[in-house]
Amino acid sequence: MGWPRVLVAGGSIGGLTAAVLLRDLGCEVDVYERSHAALEDRGAGIVVLPVTERYFTQRGGEDDRVSLELTFWSYVDRAGVVLSADPDHFRFSGWSTIYRALLDEFGPERYHLGHEMTGFESRPDGVILHLADRPSIEGDLLVCADGLGSTARSILMPEVVPEYAGYVAWRGTTPEAGLSERARADLSDSMIYQVLDPGHILVYAIPDHEGRSTSPHRVINFVWYRNYPTGGPFEDLMMGRDGISRAGTMPPGTIRLEHLTEMRATAAEVLAPTLREVVEGCAEPLIQAVFDLESPRMAFGRVCLIGDAAIGLRPHVAAGQAKACADGWALRDALAAADGDVPLALAAWEPGQLDLGHRALARTREMGQASQFDRTMIPGDPAWKFGLWEPGN
Ligand SMILES: Cc1cc2nc3c(=O)[nH]c(=O)nc-3n(C[C@H](O)[C@H](O)[C@H](O)COP(=O)(O)OP(=O)(O)OC[C@H]3O[C@@H](n4cnc5c(N)ncnc54)[C@H](O)[C@@H]3O)c2cc1C
Repeated sequence: MGWPRVLVAGGSIGGLTAAVLLRDLGCEVDVYERSHAALEDRGAGIVVLPVTERYFTQRGGEDDRVSLELTFWSYVDRAGVVLSADPDHFRFSGWSTIYRALLDEFGPERYHLGHEMTGFESRPDGVILHLADRPSIEGDLLVCADGLGSTARSILMPEVVPEYAGYVAWRGTTPEAGLSERARADLSDSMIYQVLDPGHILVYAIPDHEGRSTSPHRVINFVWYRNYPTGGPFEDLMMGRDGISRAGTMPPGTIRLEHLTEMRATAAEVLAPTLREVVEGCAEPLIQAVFDLESPRMAFGRVCLIGDAAIGLRPHVAAGQAKACADGWALRDALAAADGDVPLALAAWEPGQLDLGHRALARTREMGQASQFDRTMIPGDPAWKFGLWEPGN
């Protein structure tokens, strides 16, 4: 059997990882991304677990990495006193750095911006992808990497919807060069957490927009988890200064001034000096609401859901992106093992990825409950180490 013709709906890191892997296997692959412009900047850093950059490390080694390494995992108190500092190795990057590297790999010819999936038909002998305002396209396998608000999932399982977890992440970056000497020293090789009452914040360096990963070119990223109950506070937060109410993300420049003022006043009150400096240095932060999403299925004949479209994790294990990539790697392996037989490959692929996603989601739910509501998060607890399969891995 020949390699299938693959259609990927959603051209973010999950969709692009699947696309390069299946192309390298020998498939003809096209990516259809709803956005009209390249997804250049989401303004945020990410923790890079090995599987997220495996595509680059596996063929090239150190020079091909798209991230920087920090070697300490520290917790501080309100005064900035270090409560614990474990030597550890985690890698960090910017969302856009990884996206650009993958897009460079895949190339622009088969990456179709402004192509929105509106539906599909899965038949025994092929799939048809329906696009808004464009002719439909035929293929053998449809990979839906269309994120938490997945169109594909809403067609396949309309009852499965994201559930707001009761808190959001305030996120942003500030240039390392603009920080005080003390803050630069604190952040030189450490990722720093502070446990709050309730919630927590973490701060770490990432490469700058040009990919420069050495001091003082790096930028410092913060992620601050704060509770906003539904039924008023959350809805008010998500109403932008442009009068638009958003469901999941408030991009930089949209958060209302009274919320920015409140956030900065709270930062001055509760954060350690270095962390406060980082937060205050960011003129226009963004907000990402935290959701749980748990699908009971990922494979449907010749159609599959990967990444956030299938199972959306809370960010505490820093593995959402990694899971999207792991789904792609496993899909490649399953297709190779099935010699290109799509229904056979998807049936073999689904149980392992469902299990991986459900276990990771359960861990992140427990962590969110402990940090945001039960207030039982313990500085230095190894259970909090990042990892998709388990803490630290
Ligand atoms: C606060 C926070 C911090 C995080 N930190 C980390 C971290 O440190 N490490 C990590 O690994 N993960 C992290 N994540 C998780 C990570 O951002 C997501 O898990 C990841 O982006 C999921 O990737 P994806 O490709 O599945 O979906 P997405 O990145 O959401 O991409 C979906 C794509 O599909 C497109 N699309 C949507 N609908 C359609 C359609 N109908 N037709 C065509 N295209 C469509 C969208 O435009 C988008 O480009 C974090 C998440 C949050 C909220």
